[in-house]
Amino acid sequence: VFITIEGVEGSGKSTQLLRLSERLRHVGLPLVVSKEPGGTALGRELRRLLLERHTSGERWCAEAELLLFYADRAQHLETVIRPSLAEGKVVLVDRFEDSTRAYQGASGVPESSMDRLNELVLRGLKPHLTVMLDMDPEASLQRVEVRNLALGADFAETRFDEAELEFHRRVRNRFLAIAQNHANRVALIPARDTPDQVEAAIWQRVAPLLRN
Ligand code: C5P
Repeated sequence: VFITIEGVEGSGKSTQLLRLSERLRHVGLPLVVSKEPGGTALGRELRRLLLERHTSGERWCAEAELLLFYADRAQHLETVIRPSLAEGKVVLVDRFEDSTRAYQGASGVPESSMDRLNELVLRGLKPHLTVMLDMDPEASLQRVEVRNLALGADFAETRFDEAELEFHRRVRNRFLAIAQNHANRVALIPARDTPDQVEAAIWQRVAPLLRN
């Protein structure tokens, strides 16, 4: 069973990923938890480059960024996702194709480019379920700010300006459109409820998948 979890920053994705992993572990099925980018050595290197990009000052063009995410996805599929699914494991992945459609789409990459790369890299593979945590970026970015402040980051570095907020609004709208167009695959879950409520709503959608 292939499950992905998606959502804007600050939507509580990490918390819920942990809670869902614990529940799945409790059920006793063989489980693999992974993330994009970061599920392979290549992905961890990409994550480092993504973070460094902000300090190096070099702007990546949208296509370069897109191809890096797909390079990571190809490697992740080949070395982690496909082999684990073939062994009958439950595979839970933090961010996948929908994040690319939302983030790189919001950066201006046309859907047709992503369709072509999907043909090459995914070759028809789709998650059985995508848990999509939905929240207004105005509120979710505030959560990120608070978290950064708690970690001691410089306030000036962590403030989200209007342009950034606008970008995250576009990202959210893309996630919402995906949920609407793929209602059979995507469970859209309001992320402003309490963590316990969100956890229960997620489990309600995941549990039936495990009975087959
Ligand atoms: O939430 P997570 O830590 O997985 O996201 C890492 C960062 O990478 C986020 O800031 C997100 O904006 C970005 N990202 C992206 N495009 C993707 C996946 C993640 O821009 N396809």
